[in-house]
Amino acid sequence: MKRVKRLVILGGGTAGWMAATALARTFGPQLKIDLLESEAIGTVGVGEATIPTIHWLNQLIGLDEAEFVRATKASFKLGIEFVDWARPGSRYFHPFGRYGVDVGPVPFHQRWLRARADGLDHPLPAFSLATQLAAVNRFAKPVEDPRSILSTLGYAYHFDATLYARHLRGLAEAAGVTRHEGRLERVERAPDTGFVTALTTDRGARIEGELFLDCSGFRALLIDGVMGAPFEDWSHWLPCDRAVAVPCARAAETTPYTRSTLRTAGWQWRIPLQHRTGNGYVYSSAFLSDDEAAATLLGGLDGAALGEPRLLRFKAGFRREVWRKNVVAIGLSSGFLEPLESTSIHLIQSAIAKLIALFPDQDCDPGLARQFNTLLGRDMDGIRDFLILHYHATEGHDAPLWRYTRGMALPDSLVDKEAQYRRAGRLMLTSNELFREASWLAVLEGQGVHAEGHSPLADTLDGAVNRQQLEQIAAVVARAVPTLPKHDDAIAALIG
Ligand code: FAD
Repeated sequence: MKRVKRLVILGGGTAGWMAATALARTFGPQLKIDLLESEAIGTVGVGEATIPTIHWLNQLIGLDEAEFVRATKASFKLGIEFVDWARPGSRYFHPFGRYGVDVGPVPFHQRWLRARADGLDHPLPAFSLATQLAAVNRFAKPVEDPRSILSTLGYAYHFDATLYARHLRGLAEAAGVTRHEGRLERVERAPDTGFVTALTTDRGARIEGELFLDCSGFRALLIDGVMGAPFEDWSHWLPCDRAVAVPCARAAETTPYTRSTLRTAGWQWRIPLQHRTGNGYVYSSAFLSDDEAAATLLGGLDGAALGEPRLLRFKAGFRREVWRKNVVAIGLSSGFLEPLESTSIHLIQSAIAKLIALFPDQDCDPGLARQFNTLLGRDMDGIRDFLILHYHATEGHDAPLWRYTRGMALPDSLVDKEAQYRRAGRLMLTSNELFREASWLAVLEGQGVHAEGHSPLADTLDGAVNRQQLEQIAAVVARAVPTLPKHDDAIAALIG
């Protein structure tokens, strides 16, 4: 077997530098890594909210958390608050971590449904420590001891995307990655196999390799431009295709969560960082002009705007063949699902993890590519359904976008999930779906899809004992909240 000794990455955005750092740390000197990026082209410059899977990459690359939070002006994230989504005036929280405490074979949410049938009136959020902490701007990290209520927490980060890429670049270069500045001019291919063999730049450099990562962002210069891998368009389910983004002055207190507020033709994000707050309006251009979107965004900020709104164009969808021959697309070049649940950076690291596990030899065995494509496709399909649920399960919004998404035909997989949950609170997940029981539960209940019954398993419980245990859990959560630090204090304690 001829091992891959030279890897070339096209693109130095979040995807390019994450891949460079992770692969350099994994393979060490046996793999020479070159990365080509163009300062003149720049990066997409957004992508500031993450989900807890980010800890996987941080551990892999040996990231020092304090250094990272300091360098990227990061804040902690306990989940996402959804404002006005289920109906005008509504609010719900999608927390990281778990609801309640697992005891015995009956899942916690089934115990809650059973207790409600027995007269318990505690709402679901009363059992989520992350939700209760977020409501009062407090933060704590999870602990491993399962007897502690803190073990039910999960967390991620908000960070400055440009500072994040810069931080990773420092780590990657220290690990031996060679960066090339310049614009891609020509792609050389082997006439017999069609494999890419070298990239040449407008500065006259020629970068040879045996495996190429396309991290060129929406341009998808290798996977689309050279390999012609088709794009599966999902905009009939996820019709938002533009965003305007602008940072504003930071608020007095940094909130430990992202906020998503429903708007006439989409939704607006609010991402708090140490030095500023990121904002953006994600919308469908079929229902709103760019000027109207910018005006709505600027009118909905909670601090002075720090610049002019920036326009971004995209299309929801994915390439089923993100690995073709010796080109693997990672990041926006592979596809894009809008940032409602902050999943793109997760998908980058999911692709990196799969590439490490399936790392090919020089012949790039097509069986490895097939496996990679199947697994990544499953990730995308699951996330897609989860996002569609937010758009579909709304009421009381009369604007055309919301009338459309309420009435649109859903993927069968989502129809089944909704029906099973409504009937007996069953959460029908496959083992490799990203969003687990707590997430589906939060969003189904939050968006007004309520379970009409519980599963037969919950009938095995002693109703009075179950109810009493749940009341105790809610009391433990409530007692813990005021004992935990304010979010800003937790950041200050970490970075000194
Ligand atoms: P880019 O950042 O665009 O990088 C592309 C790289 O390719 C650049 O370095 C560029 O210079 C280089 N390049 C391109 N063409 C050439 C060329 N011809 N020659 C040389 N170099 C070239 N994700 C999240 O996880 N959370 C979020 O909250 C989130 N919010 C988002 C909001 C919006 C509106 C959008 C559009 C995306 C959001 N994302 C989010 C996604 C996230 O921004 C991306 O997944 C992430 O930034 C990775 O981008 P990338 O590296 O693939 O592409």
